[in-house]
Amino acid sequence: MYDYLVIGAGLYGSVFAQQAKAAGKSVLVIDKRDHIAGNVYTEKVEGIDVHKYGAHIFHTNNQAVWDYVNRFVTFNRFTNSPVANYKGELYSLPFNMYTFNKMWGVVTPDEAAGKIAQQKAAAGITEPKNLEEQAISLVGTDIYEKLIKGYTQKQWGRPCTELPSFIIKRLPVRLTFDNNYFNALYQGIPVGGYTRLVEKLLEGIEVRLCVDYLEHKAELDALAEKIVYTGPIDAYFGYSLGALEYRSVRFETELLDIPNFQGNAAVNYTDAETPYTRIIEHKWFTFGKDEQGNNLPKTVISREYSSEWHPGDEPYYPVNDEKNSALYAKYKALAEQEENVIFGGRLGEYKYYDMDAVIAAALAAAKEIR
Ligand code: UDP
Repeated sequence: MYDYLVIGAGLYGSVFAQQAKAAGKSVLVIDKRDHIAGNVYTEKVEGIDVHKYGAHIFHTNNQAVWDYVNRFVTFNRFTNSPVANYKGELYSLPFNMYTFNKMWGVVTPDEAAGKIAQQKAAAGITEPKNLEEQAISLVGTDIYEKLIKGYTQKQWGRPCTELPSFIIKRLPVRLTFDNNYFNALYQGIPVGGYTRLVEKLLEGIEVRLCVDYLEHKAELDALAEKIVYTGPIDAYFGYSLGALEYRSVRFETELLDIPNFQGNAAVNYTDAETPYTRIIEHKWFTFGKDEQGNNLPKTVISREYSSEWHPGDEPYYPVNDEKNSALYAKYKALAEQEENVIFGGRLGEYKYYDMDAVIAAALAAAKEIR
């Protein structure tokens, strides 16, 4: 018997497991994949840490979380500054003075603010009701049309008028020449990749891979007093109330025999016609160098295609619109009746979590360990 059975070796499960072990508990971690680390998994290809399930850039304002992760790995000083490519025109992201200058030729913050205010007024928006209106009121019509509309509709498979405005509030708007994508105090990529971070979290903890919990639920449940479940909450309940919707992502990854494909870690293709949303060039997360500081001669790129999720696909993004939020609330009520089961993480809580928030949530849940 174990004190805890943790289902899913992603960030939530691994952090919880680490805390449980540190509290003197016995823990078994299982995962249905053949590797640990969930969607933050990185794999070395020609010395490059390839983010197999999409780019992950760690950023946080949470001192406790930052101190916690730094106990296990060191972080490099990577700062995310994506470039937007709209039909060959390049713009700086997030929306900042470089973007406004390129878009309108404005030079001062006042001129930029004036331009945004003018476009917002022309669109007649007072209280934004959806993502489109929110975007126009933040940055005006031109930026919405060229840098937001196509990208967002590709990513979410829905028109911006049918999406909640909070999605776009993730992106800062700045009247300064600062193209750091995140407003966080701390930012970086773990040296050795995220897989190393999760390996360290799980050090000394029994992990069984290629084990499907829901297929063997009864016998696995019998192994432990308490369960931490980080899989999809609707799958746990056999989709009895219906399936929650997700967006999935498909990656086309290529190893190229050239040192530099696009000169940046992320280039977003913001038009509606290009079928992929962005291209990630993984080596730039480590400045084009391996851990010893040698220049990497080759490069790996991933084109990212967003798609609707179907049962059997990997779920990536919860679709937190009204319909799905209401369905999630019903599943959550069921989950609260499950004694001795903690539901956590992006899938367990159906929440568009960033990594630091997942870690904070797992640390908070682990406070209950006694
Ligand atoms: N977004 C956009 N244009 C961009 C990048 C992002 O319109 O070039 C919008 C889009 O609606 C997206 C949201 O901002 O869903 C959040 O983007 P972010 O890059 O934070 O998403 P993630 O990295 O989690 O995929």
